[in-house]
This record gives sequence, structure tokens and C-alpha cells, in this order.
Amino acid sequence: MRTFYCGSLRKDDIGKEVDLCGWVFRRRDHGGLIFADLRDVSGIAQVVFSPEISQESHSAAHDLKQEYVIAIKGKVAERPAGTENVNVPTGAVEVLVNSLTVLNTCKPLPFQLEDEEPNESLRLKYRYLDMRRPQMQQIFVQRSQALQVIRQHLVSDGFYEVETPFLTKSTPEGARDFIVPSRLNSGHFYALPQSPQLFKQILMVAGMDRYFQVARCFRDEDLRADRQPEFTQLDLEMSFVDVDDVIGAAERLIKAIFESMTGKPFPLPVRRMDYEEAMEKYGTDKPDLRYDLPMIEVTDVFGESEFGVFRQVAEQKGAIKGIVLKGKQLSRKDLDTAVDAAKDLGSGGLIWMRFEGGKLVSPTVKYLKEAELSGIQQRFALSDGDVLFMMAGKRTDINEMMGRFRTYIAEKYGLIPRDAFAFLWVVNFPLLEYSQEEKRYVARHHPFTAPKQPIANCEGDYDSIQAKAYDMVLNGVEIGGGSIRNYRMEDQAAMFKLLGIKDEVAVEQFGFLLEALEMGAPPHGGIAFGFDRILMMLLKLDSIRDVIPFPKTQKGACLMSGAPGRISQRQMNELKIRTAKE
Ligand code: ASP
Repeated sequence: MRTFYCGSLRKDDIGKEVDLCGWVFRRRDHGGLIFADLRDVSGIAQVVFSPEISQESHSAAHDLKQEYVIAIKGKVAERPAGTENVNVPTGAVEVLVNSLTVLNTCKPLPFQLEDEEPNESLRLKYRYLDMRRPQMQQIFVQRSQALQVIRQHLVSDGFYEVETPFLTKSTPEGARDFIVPSRLNSGHFYALPQSPQLFKQILMVAGMDRYFQVARCFRDEDLRADRQPEFTQLDLEMSFVDVDDVIGAAERLIKAIFESMTGKPFPLPVRRMDYEEAMEKYGTDKPDLRYDLPMIEVTDVFGESEFGVFRQVAEQKGAIKGIVLKGKQLSRKDLDTAVDAAKDLGSGGLIWMRFEGGKLVSPTVKYLKEAELSGIQQRFALSDGDVLFMMAGKRTDINEMMGRFRTYIAEKYGLIPRDAFAFLWVVNFPLLEYSQEEKRYVARHHPFTAPKQPIANCEGDYDSIQAKAYDMVLNGVEIGGGSIRNYRMEDQAAMFKLLGIKDEVAVEQFGFLLEALEMGAPPHGGIAFGFDRILMMLLKLDSIRDVIPFPKTQKGACLMSGAPGRISQRQMNELKIRTAKE
């Protein structure tokens, strides 16, 4: 129906006869002439209806309304001097219309497509209108381009794209499953995959060597701004590899995505940090390294302090840590605000000190000995004007509180460079985590993750076992994670035993994987990235809903289709399902 896309017209096209199709974006009636901005996926062209060129089209153009779908024939002309629009790529030209066909009309819109921020429930209900907005269309064009880059890159890196089922059994990612009843096996249920974890491992046993999938994953969790019940993972698995190989392949992939989307260089390798260092310096396993502001420890300075709080903490092997804010003028009121903020974040107390005229100034100073003061000054390398914030207490609490306070200070004092992208690998995670609730150890990543040393060597010190696991962090957000797996049955069995998973339970849940491990499973490992989250961050958007074509609300509803909905009695009968009264 058309010979050109609206957004493609340039000066070179002047004089050409063109056929365009699209939506009427804006219409301006200037008495004699009627102008319309005609829009399609490629952009906007200005089309002009003049009675001198076509009386018929000109009078029909009077009736054009917003979002009418039209086809026009016309000639590309240079815009009269002074009327060019430098803000659009087609701004030097316009199309003089000699024929207009109205293909479809449009009812009055529930919101204006030009609005900066239409109401979100309206946007979700009329997602097709929301997506017609050029800025939204661009997001999905970029999403499509990113997927092509990913596929091309991975195929050239030796990966095969393999699909795994949606109707399957529960997978061990630790969230709640979405359940689908089976009609042919009444009383039995499928679980939608939380990830393709078991299948991708089995593909390695199947000899596929390097697998990838743009995989939809389903997790029935409480939703937040950066979470959706179904989301897309870039899922990889590789055979005959160890940690460095997976990290290498994964960072080459992220480089390809990043460079194609931002046009900026992505230097390799990505920095790596031990879990332990991340926790001790930044109080989190996903530190935002767009700014440094590390926690520095001074516990050892206060072993014999007369300042009760510090001495006690030092004696009880707790931690005394501080962060230094440089180059900001803080009033007494600012300092009080910081103390209150630390309390709100859950901290037992915040001590501040200023470094002025070569010495520390603070209500706390009088309790401290000269040696302690100079110890502080040296350890924090203080210079004039610096403000030091300190906390003391149980090590894990201090790490967590100081970590949160660090983020608070960075935001409050504008220390975060908004345009920066700080990528980081966090490695050497603990294999296990003690669950107070369940009174047993649980896997930090998932139960198939391999330990760095054989479990038998740890002599009962389970907290010290490290995992061959790695997470990629971007600006303080985990964007991907994976591990090297247990590929021999005896190692996997040792892990289940440690986790208190009984043989029968393991067989019932993952029996097919366990059986496969005993039939020539190669060493293997992999990783998965949250594709939606990566897009959201690279495009500097605030909500994951903006990068998912048809997202759900916080309550898991699709406002457009009305899902989830009821099903007919006939369907219920077929499934032999009855809903409980309460
Ligand atoms: N399946 C894991 C996840 O979704 C990733 C992996 O271990 O490869 O977190």
C-alpha cells in the first residue's frame, strides 16, 4: 500500500511521487492549507492538503481527526524557507497531497498520545495506544534490535538456541510456582518454569555443548517496580567449563548488548570482587560502584578505649566502621538529619566527626584518647572539611546499616553520576545460608551449584564453604547470576544431604536430572541475565513495565485482556476442579 515510510523522507527525495500510510498525529488548519503530521513506526512526515493541488483531498482533509488511519499519494517538496523543522529528521521536506483515502476512523482517545505521562492504568488498558506513542515504539524497536544482537553474538560464539518447555515440573529458584492443571491427568498439575535450569543442564548431558535461550520465566512473587510475574531471561549453559569460561562468555555478551545499545565502549574484563569484600566494604552483595564511598574499619583502634560503646564492640569482636564524605559543607542541622536518617534505616546510632583545622571536632571527641583520634585521622586519611560518619555494633548489622547509610548519603549529597554504568562481578559467594525459619541450611543460589572445595573437606564449618557462583551487578542492581554445577551424582547427593533434602524428595522433584547425571554428564555451568531489567537500565527507564510489551500490574493483572479471569463451568468440569467457598 505504500512506497515509502513516513520517517524516511529526506531532501534527496524532493520531486518524488510517494505513497504513504499511517496515523494522523496532529492536524493544523491554516485556512487555505491543511497540514497533518502523518506517523508510522519510522517517524513523522508533514503532509499538506492544498485546494490548488487537489480540491477533493483538501475538503476530505477537513474531516480528518486524531489517529485516523489514512493513505495518501503526493509529491515530496522542499519546505518553504523558514518553515523547516530541525527537530525531526524529515523536517526539511513535506508531501503535497493529491489523493487521500481514509482507511479507518478513530474514536476520541482516552488520553492524548502527546502527553508526557498519561495515567498508568489507562496506558495499560489501552496498551496499543500507549505503544503508538513514538517514545514507546522506540523502546520496542530497541528491544527487537537487542534481541538480534544477542542471537547473532551467541551463535557466533558457538551457542545453539534450544527451547525448553513451559508446561513442566517445579524448578528450584526459590519462588512460588504458577500452576497449570492437567486435563488428561486429573489431580495433576504442571508448574510453569521459574527458569529453564534443569532442562539446560540436561541439554549439556545431551551433548549440546553450548545452549542459549531467550527464555520466559514465571515466578509468583509479590511484584515491585522492577519485577514482573513473567519476565525474559537470557539463559546460557556451557559444557567442559569452569568459572572463568562462563564469566568470559557472559561478559562478551553483555559487551555486545551494551555497545550496540549505547554506542559507548565496554572495556573487558569486567572488574571482579569477592563477596566478602563487597559485604565488608559496601555492606551488600550488589554494590553500586558508580561512586566509591567505602566503609573503612577501625575496630582495632579501640581495643582499650575508655569510650564504653567502642570498647565493648571491640571486645565482643564486633565492628566499628566509618565512611568519609568529602567536599560538602554540612551544617549542624544536616548532621542531625543524617543521625535521624541512620535511625530510620534501622541503625542503633550514628556518630559524626568533622575534620577542621587539622583536628576532629564532635561531641564524641572528648571521650577518645589522643592515640585513638590520630588513629582515626590516619585510617580515614582525613583532610580539612571532611565529615566522618561512624557506626559500631555486631559486624553483620554494621555492614548492613552502614551499607544502607552509604546509599543514603550518596543520594542525598548527589555523589551518583547519573550517566555512568558501573558493571561488576561478585564472585566466591558462600554456598549456603542458614535459614532461621526452616532451621537448616539452604542453598544461596540453587541446590545444583558446585562448591569450590569438596564439601567433605570443610570439617563441619559449613559457613566457610564457597560456591562456584557469580553475579553480575550494574549500578547496584543484580542483572544476572549463575554457577558451575555439580555434575557427578555423588557431589549432588552430598549437597542434598547437607540441605536436608531427603532422597525420596530429591527423586520426586528432580529425579530426571539426577538420573541424567549418572549417564555421562559433562562438567558444566551457566548463567542467566534478566533481559528486561538490563534494557530498563540501559535505556534509563524507571519501570520494568516500560520495556515489556504487555506487562501486568502490581496485582498481577493484565488491564487490557482482563487476565486473570474466571473460566467456564465446562472448563472447570473438564479439569475436575471446584473452587472452595472460602
Ligand atoms: N537458573 C538460574 C536463575 O534463574 C541461573 C543459573 O544458575 O544459570 O537464577
